[in-house]
Amino acid sequence: MDLIFATHNKGKLKEVQMLVPEGITVISLDDLGVTEEIEETGSTLQENALIKARFLFSRYKSPVLADDTGLEVAGLDGAPGVYSARYAGEPSNSEHNMDLLLRNMQGFENRNARFRTVIAYINKEGEEILFEGIVEGAILLARQGAEGFGYDPIFKPLSSDLSFAQMPLAEKNAISHRGRALKKFGDYINTTNQ
Ligand code: IMP
Repeated sequence: MDLIFATHNKGKLKEVQMLVPEGITVISLDDLGVTEEIEETGSTLQENALIKARFLFSRYKSPVLADDTGLEVAGLDGAPGVYSARYAGEPSNSEHNMDLLLRNMQGFENRNARFRTVIAYINKEGEEILFEGIVEGAILLARQGAEGFGYDPIFKPLSSDLSFAQMPLAEKNAISHRGRALKKFGDYINTTNQ
């Protein structure tokens, strides 16, 4: 099955390619020649994932997967959350986002945070199914590591002493928010065959 994945982000694409069940070929927006950004105008991760998936399904009438992720910091009442990509303004810039988050958390003892991903899948019949994945962790005091993307250098999952940016991709995928949501997606595909 060909599966369109709604991203321009090479890091994410690589993760998804490693994680989908066998027999699925992931087609990216770049493969399709889609250059525009699909506007994320929703106020929840679920809404944004559905906006992206519905846009592509209406255009291509083919199975689509779209995800939206937020970094939810306990001491900031869940911010940056759905606004994680544009936390320090637009255009989205990971270095600026990390700088701002570290600044806003100066002096915080409670550094608990979690990544939450919502994946929207639309199958060839047009049915919509949602999957969620969460990884709990903490925001470090400074960047550590150079792998990954986004907030990876300042996020340390509870189950490890390393930041996401210090881990080989396979190790991150095994415990990450997106890895967990994609595992649920894979189980769904394997049991329903659609
Ligand atoms: P989105 O899912 O592309 O909307 O992601 C929202 C924001 O969270 C962006 O700034 C991403 O860089 C960041 N983000 C999403 N997934 C990850 C991840 O696995 N690690 C670090 N940052 C991420």
